[in-house]
Amino acid sequence: MQELARSWQRAGVRVGLVPTMGYLHAGHLSLVECARQMVGPGGKVVVSIYVNPAQFGPQEDLSSYPRNFARDAWLCREAGVDVIFAPDDTQMYPRGDAGGFSTFVVEEGLSRGMEGKSRPTHFRGVTTVVAKLFNIVQPGLAVFGAKDYQQVAVVKRMVRDLNFPLKIVVAPTLREVDGLAMSSRNKYLAGELRGQALVLWRSLEKARAEARKSTRPVPAARLKKELKRFIERVPAARLDYVEFFDPDTLVPVPSVTRGTQMALAVFIGKTRLIDNARL
Ligand code: AMP
Repeated sequence: MQELARSWQRAGVRVGLVPTMGYLHAGHLSLVECARQMVGPGGKVVVSIYVNPAQFGPQEDLSSYPRNFARDAWLCREAGVDVIFAPDDTQMYPRGDAGGFSTFVVEEGLSRGMEGKSRPTHFRGVTTVVAKLFNIVQPGLAVFGAKDYQQVAVVKRMVRDLNFPLKIVVAPTLREVDGLAMSSRNKYLAGELRGQALVLWRSLEKARAEARKSTRPVPAARLKKELKRFIERVPAARLDYVEFFDPDTLVPVPSVTRGTQMALAVFIGKTRLIDNARL
């Protein structure tokens, strides 16, 4: 892949990378479309498909994470992707279990709260694998989804801090018609759970309505309590966190107004889902 990337670079070809963990859905494909628009018909779009063990905690769903390479490959072909980069663990982390891999990239500010608090080693895994993918594919731009809002902020910071010579492009969150954010993990939502998962979207809408109808800022603590009650009225739902914060700095705000960013993580049964929106 790196050799191919270097030959593209020598030829002056524009390259766009879309990093994914596979089990592709329309949200991923919208990122591909965005990459294609940015690099043009003569450019190259690379989709990486890699379920990165380093970003999963020991109690998380690494082994059950949905995979279907044949289907992904077909979808990529239909979407006009030029190259799928799908390495395996021994290629990405050679002799990883035997201590043969020991260099990690750690972002120490934006990654502390929210996802980073609930999943302490998650962003270290993300920044490490994304740095590796940038070095391997050497793209001029990489497209990420706003669905993972904090991830975008952390990756942008890494790119700035470590002088990666590429542009990060953010694409909007694609949703099902009823509002559920598309996610590979939605596959886990069998039977009743699918309907109950709507509580994330409803929480975002509820908070947005409250922030907009109120003539003065709404105390974040009060809104958090209200949302926790609202969420936990749903039988299979358990709130992990809900946070209100400045969209640029990710610093939590004491009061909520139009323009505040909200993010939440909710377990629906055993499945942990995240979502976010600008209020
Ligand atoms: P994943 O395969 O879940 O790691 O996601 C790969 C990329 O797709 C990340 O940049 C995600 O933010 C993005 N993505 C995932 N779901 C969506 C969605 N519903 N809409 C837009 N982008 C998404």
